Amino acid sequence: MTRQKIRRALIFFSLLAFPIIMWYLSPVLIIQAASEHIMNGSFFVFVTMFISSMFLGRVWCGYLCPAGGLMECCAQINEKPAKQGWRDKIKYVIWTTWMLAVVITFILGKNDVTIDFFYMTDHGISIADIYNYVIYYGVILLLMVPTLIHGRRGACHYICWMAPFMVIGSTIGRFLHLPQLHVEGDREKCISCKRCNRVCPMGLDVEAMVQAQTNHKCTECIQCGACVDECPKGAVKYRVFWGKQNNK
Ligand code: SF4
Ligand code: SF4
Repeated sequence: MTRQKIRRALIFFSLLAFPIIMWYLSPVLIIQAASEHIMNGSFFVFVTMFISSMFLGRVWCGYLCPAGGLMECCAQINEKPAKQGWRDKIKYVIWTTWMLAVVITFILGKNDVTIDFFYMTDHGISIADIYNYVIYYGVILLLMVPTLIHGRRGACHYICWMAPFMVIGSTIGRFLHLPQLHVEGDREKCISCKRCNRVCPMGLDVEAMVQAQTNHKCTECIQCGACVDECPKGAVKYRVFWGKQNNK
């Protein structure tokens, strides 16, 4: 439980810092920077997300993401599990279109390639003038609406432009047999009380995954550990997979 308090505190503080860090997560600024051949802050943040997910899966989403903090606040209003299925695929369409835009803009861009981590920020701060708050509240609204309408972490499931980096990164990590953090179920210990389902911030059917022994393959799991901490029988655990066990 202490772990979940720390986790919630981390994403809440991250949410409070969102006006400062927003440009470092911006899908738009990276395109603008690409047109000038500048490797900006969000470029480095997305690369870090991708590489770290090969080893840590979607830990960013569970422990550090400001949007995750916002959505877990929204879950106080609508706590039903967001529907899974085709809607989860929308984020991959968004991501693919966006990546194509970044690459094409870079190819058509001008100037020598340079690095400017603080590109378009004011001394490192993203939202430093009143006009940028219009964008800030627009993004907040964009993230809140799917969650308020559909349920727990709706924007993570449906529209997050960052999640595919980590889904692809963790899939590559598994393919390469890299040591990788996972949540693993043990159906022998499970008594099907479904307490794990009730606490999962992503609204996943954790109990069904435990019965099918597929927790470690779930691309929507954000490795938050809420199910690990809630299970009365220790039927869900964190585990680091090494080598070929990864693909079982
Ligand atoms: S909380 Fe534990 S015992 Fe209960 S359904 Fe989930 S995995 Fe099974
Ligand atoms: S399955 Fe467990 S670790 Fe994964 S998101 Fe749900 S509660 Fe968190």
